[in-house]
Amino acid sequence: QMHPQQPPIQWGGAIMWRGTTPGVPVRSGASFVGVGSLRHRVVLYPISPPDPATGLATINWIAEITVDNAEGWTQGDWNRRVELSDFAHHFEGWDFGWLDVPSMLRGAKEVFEYPMIDRDPVPTWVDGHVALLGDAAHVMYPVGSNGASQAIVDARVLGASMLSHGVTPAALRAYDERLCADISALVLRNRGAGPFGLLGLVDERCGGVFDDIEQVIPAVEREAYMARYKAAAGFAIETLNAAPSTIAPGARIAA
Ligand SMILES: Cc1cc2nc3c(=O)[nH]c(=O)nc-3n(C[C@H](O)[C@H](O)[C@H](O)COP(=O)(O)OP(=O)(O)OC[C@H]3O[C@@H](n4cnc5c(N)ncnc54)[C@H](O)[C@@H]3O)c2cc1C
Repeated sequence: QMHPQQPPIQWGGAIMWRGTTPGVPVRSGASFVGVGSLRHRVVLYPISPPDPATGLATINWIAEITVDNAEGWTQGDWNRRVELSDFAHHFEGWDFGWLDVPSMLRGAKEVFEYPMIDRDPVPTWVDGHVALLGDAAHVMYPVGSNGASQAIVDARVLGASMLSHGVTPAALRAYDERLCADISALVLRNRGAGPFGLLGLVDERCGGVFDDIEQVIPAVEREAYMARYKAAAGFAIETLNAAPSTIAPGARIAA
C-alpha cells in the first residue's frame, strides 16, 4: 500500500535446503563455516553447546545451489518440506575428512527448501503515522544471517527516536533518516555475496584448489574483507561494544 510501484519479490536463482543434524562443531566450537563456491556451497554452524556426554552439538546447515532464474520461482511454496533425494546429489563426494557433507545432510530429521529472495529497497519506510520495520522494511538475502538482528536494531533506534521526539511522526521520520538509506544499501550488498564473497575470490584465483590459503588470499586481505562487511552491517564488534546503549537503561517516554 505504501509503495504500490515496488516490483514483485526478487529471486536471483539461489535455492537453499536447510536442516539440523547432531555433529561435532568445527574449530572454535562456534565457527561459521562456508564451503564451496558462490553458486554451490554448504554453510554450517552450531546452534547449541556440545552435549557433555557425546560432544555433539546441534549443527544448523544450509546446502545451496544457484540455478537459472529466467522462469522465476515455479515451486509455489516458499517453505516446503523436501526429501533428501531431491537435493543430496548436488553434494555427492563432498567428504573432506574434517567435514562429511553427505552424512551431515542424511542426519537431519527433516529438510526444508527455500528460494533466496528479497525485495528492492524503497526510498522511505515511513508514511505519516505509519512506519515499517524488520522484514517489512528491508527483507534481505540471509548471507549475513542478519535479518532478525536488523529488525531488533530497527526497534531500538525507533525507541530512541521516540525518547527524543515523543510518539510523533517526527520520531518516525528521525528513525527513517537514521536507517533507511544505510540498510537499503546493505540489502543490495547482500544481493551480491556478503561475507561469502571470500569464497568467490578463492574460486576466481585458484579454482578452489590450494595448498596454502595464504598464497591465495592472505589473512590481512581476508580480515579487511570481513571488516568492510561488518562495518556496513553494524556488526564491527569493537565499535559495537564500545558504543553507548541505543536506549539508556531505564529510559521512559514522558507521559
Ligand atoms: C529459514 C530462515 C532462517 C533464518 N535465519 C536467520 C538467522 O540465522 N539470523 C537472522 O538474524 N535472521 C534469520 N532469518 C531472518 C529472520 O527470521 C527475519 O529477518 C525476522 O524474523 C524478521 O522479523 P520481523 O519481526 O520483521 O518479521 P516476522 O518474523 O516475519 O514477523 C511478522 C509477524 O507478523 C505476522 N503477521 C503477518 N501479517 C499479519 C497480519 N495481517 N496481522 C497480524 N499479524 C500478521 C506474521 O505471522 C509474523 O508472526 C531467517 C529466516 C528464515 C526464513
